[in-house]
Amino acid sequence: MNPWIAKAVVLVGTLVMLAIRAPHGHRSRRVKVAKSHKTPLETGLLVLVWVGFFVPFIWLASPVLSFAEYPLDIVPLVAGAMCFAIGLWLFYRSHADLGTNWSITLEIRDQHRLVTQGVYRRIRHPMYLALALYSVGHALVIPNWVAGPSNLIAFAILFALRVRAEEKMMVDEFGDEYAAYTARTKRLVPGVW
Ligand code: SAH
Repeated sequence: MNPWIAKAVVLVGTLVMLAIRAPHGHRSRRVKVAKSHKTPLETGLLVLVWVGFFVPFIWLASPVLSFAEYPLDIVPLVAGAMCFAIGLWLFYRSHADLGTNWSITLEIRDQHRLVTQGVYRRIRHPMYLALALYSVGHALVIPNWVAGPSNLIAFAILFALRVRAEEKMMVDEFGDEYAAYTARTKRLVPGVW
């Protein structure tokens, strides 16, 4: 199959993701940060995620990564497009539910409220699940051994090194309320983990 189909899917998925995030990024700059838990590790993880996000654009726009190309197949293309669609829906919903409590890093905002409803009702990290689906979508859709998994590798490292620190920050801030929320929810997969 023509790799331009994969390029179009990745481009549309990325533009939709940026369009979902843009108003939240813009608005969150106006809500004061009450407590920052941004460590040098967090800064490193954010840089890593940006690199993982950027590599597919190199594949999109130039032949630099053509040495790692393999033929595009319809099955991973359709499966990846479905991961994109579900992931982007969840990304939209988790932003809508978190509202002004959202931050790109570990921060407690002014008048921060613990959100336990909507897509947060059964799992504590729906936005990370959305990013995981989006990254798996990349790995399936992009027929390239470097650009395909770049988002997934960066996101997996971010998740592995951030999730405990984030939950500790939340329990320090919300105490028993977060402990009770943890007891009745899972991290990523409803009812499983
Ligand atoms: N881990 C969550 C949120 C990612 S954004 C998810 O995957 O959906 C990260 C920021 O969201 C954290 O810095 C924290 O301030 C905030 N946050 C995380 N969970 C929250 C919750 N249940 N209610 C309110 N804010 C939350």
